[in-house]
Amino acid sequence: MRPVAHRKPSYVHNQSTASLSKYYDVFCKNFNLSFGHPRQDVCSFCSETSIKIKNEIDIEKKVDLEDVLLDHKNKSKCFSRMMTEKLPNTVQVCFDMMQNQPLPKLSVTDTFYSRQAWVYNLTFVIMSENDQSKDNCYLYTWHEGESGRGPNEIGSALIHFLEILEERYKTKSRPPTILNLYSDSCSGQNKNKFIMGLLLYYMNCKDTIFNKIKHIFPVRGHSYMAADQVFGRIEKVLHKKEIIVCPTQYHDIFKQFCQVKTYENDFKVYNIKDALPKTTSFYEDIFKLNELESIEDSAINEEGACIYSEDTSY
Ligand SMILES: [Zn+2]
Repeated sequence: MRPVAHRKPSYVHNQSTASLSKYYDVFCKNFNLSFGHPRQDVCSFCSETSIKIKNEIDIEKKVDLEDVLLDHKNKSKCFSRMMTEKLPNTVQVCFDMMQNQPLPKLSVTDTFYSRQAWVYNLTFVIMSENDQSKDNCYLYTWHEGESGRGPNEIGSALIHFLEILEERYKTKSRPPTILNLYSDSCSGQNKNKFIMGLLLYYMNCKDTIFNKIKHIFPVRGHSYMAADQVFGRIEKVLHKKEIIVCPTQYHDIFKQFCQVKTYENDFKVYNIKDALPKTTSFYEDIFKLNELESIEDSAINEEGACIYSEDTSY
């Protein structure tokens, strides 16, 4: 094969090849290329209110609706801003469940009419590390034959992940003291008294470096987080894979992007729903949590994100 001659790039002689604006100009005018906007789920409240504004004839009502929409959008921006903030002594973590994956995944028509089992995947991303490499992404996976996907599973994975965080940061010369957790407001999984009770238990009963854990929720419909970016990468690989017949094939794909923790091998699922109310020392705290549920709206702070904080000073 004939060797290909390469012209030496001009930067070798410390000369700039062209300015960024020149590249931009040539790229935009001389290439037939364009970038599509990433598709995101559209918030139902935003869509509904926008349509109402469009169709409202009464000017006063129209202005009121515009104010409501603006307020809603400001609150959603607040959640995104909080996630990207660099806070001293603070670890920022988000977690979310990926769309359920079918098992087996086949390109046979009959599969369409059959009942498939689901593979679940809950992912934690340490956002404060500013890097979504495998080192900072932890993925907990199990299938529906092993366990469900309620507070027991989320809480058990959360406890396991918190222990990993402890190990990771406790040896630092100045370990962080605040943990900010971000998740969507799904009441069946994240935003419920069991997860709050569990975090209270963790703060009070475990030897932890954290003296405060905040669990922060977005306004409904605006819960896009770093975990979704990880899911996007996983989905890209899954898209190309036509046949998957066992969970380990899923695990191998997950391992390309995250540290994978599998059910029973790495973590256990505890019956948190049954255990927490029975622990008498926390009965009062649990009682407070029941109160909190009914005053949920008043817990929304001025900036818009709903914060509940577990503090040792309680
Ligand atoms: Zn919205």
